[in-house]
Amino acid sequence: MFDDHYLAKIEERTSSDATRAKARGAKVVGVYCAFTPKELISAAGAIPVALCSGSEHPIQLAEQHLPRNLCALISSSYGHALGDTCPYFHATDLLLADATCDGKKKMFELLGKLRPLHLVQLPQTADTTASRIAWLEEVRRIKSVVEELCNVTISDEALSKQIHLYNRMRAVIEKAFALNSGKVPVFFGRELYRLTSLGGFESNLETRIAELNAAISRGMERSISSSHMRDVRNRPRILLTGCPTTHTKVLDQIEESGGIVVAMENCGGLKTVGDPVSEEGPPLEALAERYLRTACACMTPNHGRLEILNRLIADYRIDGVVELTWDGCHTYNIEAFQIREYVEGLGLPYLQITTDYSENDTGQLQTRIEAFLEIS
Ligand code: SF4
Ligand code: SF4
Repeated sequence: MFDDHYLAKIEERTSSDATRAKARGAKVVGVYCAFTPKELISAAGAIPVALCSGSEHPIQLAEQHLPRNLCALISSSYGHALGDTCPYFHATDLLLADATCDGKKKMFELLGKLRPLHLVQLPQTADTTASRIAWLEEVRRIKSVVEELCNVTISDEALSKQIHLYNRMRAVIEKAFALNSGKVPVFFGRELYRLTSLGGFESNLETRIAELNAAISRGMERSISSSHMRDVRNRPRILLTGCPTTHTKVLDQIEESGGIVVAMENCGGLKTVGDPVSEEGPPLEALAERYLRTACACMTPNHGRLEILNRLIADYRIDGVVELTWDGCHTYNIEAFQIREYVEGLGLPYLQITTDYSENDTGQLQTRIEAFLEIS
């Protein structure tokens, strides 16, 4: 339904909006993580762009500088920067790079040689007063860094406006996912992924929100057709969790094998949209508070993730949970033990898939996923 042409048109629109804005002098700020408060970038008049790459091609080049046993997301993103093969990276004036996992923060030291880079100092827990104070200080530093880049002062009013806009964006993505909580899911997971994770410049969120609403209407119209009902009927309802779904091989394989991914907890999915920034009180504090709650495995402890999983399993009538772990991602790989215990404790089947961006394990993946769907 959201064919390549439809999605390419949206991407084209975001690119030409951003190119025009850049020609008028707007700065482009690259981000690599869900902890980065993009509202601050937009409030300064700059354009945020997500740079986490899902392509296998740049990895070989990256491995001239990086070890081979690193998560593909890190190597791929670095390879694109090193080879200057990503138009989004090419357009950046500044990178905001969060010190999350070891691989990313050490890669950022190399990336800083290619672009001006502010290392976002992230605490390791959201649970202590000291970490909340330190994070608020860091968010203030990010504000100063983007203010300096754009030669502006970000007013509370401008920030509140962006917080409201981004909350609307989160709400519309959540609305699209929520249509899958009913008995007849409206979207396949691969459609939702493509629709909501369309990378690119965030230069005109109002239009993006309107596009998402239009796509939701299209999906709802299709959902009452007998062919759609036939298509989604009797498919095990899967929740995808784990590392960011930057490459869709696991998601695609689940749906090609007869399942349907009705919800995704990963970054870019419901982990980051189900929790709006408070629009009460001082906006910078509200922003800091919300972003520190991001339920990432880089945080210890990370109770928030179990709470989200619990809610999604109930709300989306989940039959089985698949955890995606990129090879070399220690944080999610270790946390997987607790996730398995938790999910199986609820009486649901759980499958962890550890893989990379290559197609080498396609056959093995298919066998494991098909066997899993039979018991889901
Ligand atoms: S999984 Fe964690 S480190 Fe990776 S993008 Fe999400 S918040 Fe950032
Ligand atoms: S998937 Fe894991 S190793 Fe890779 S960047 Fe994210 S947290 Fe780091």
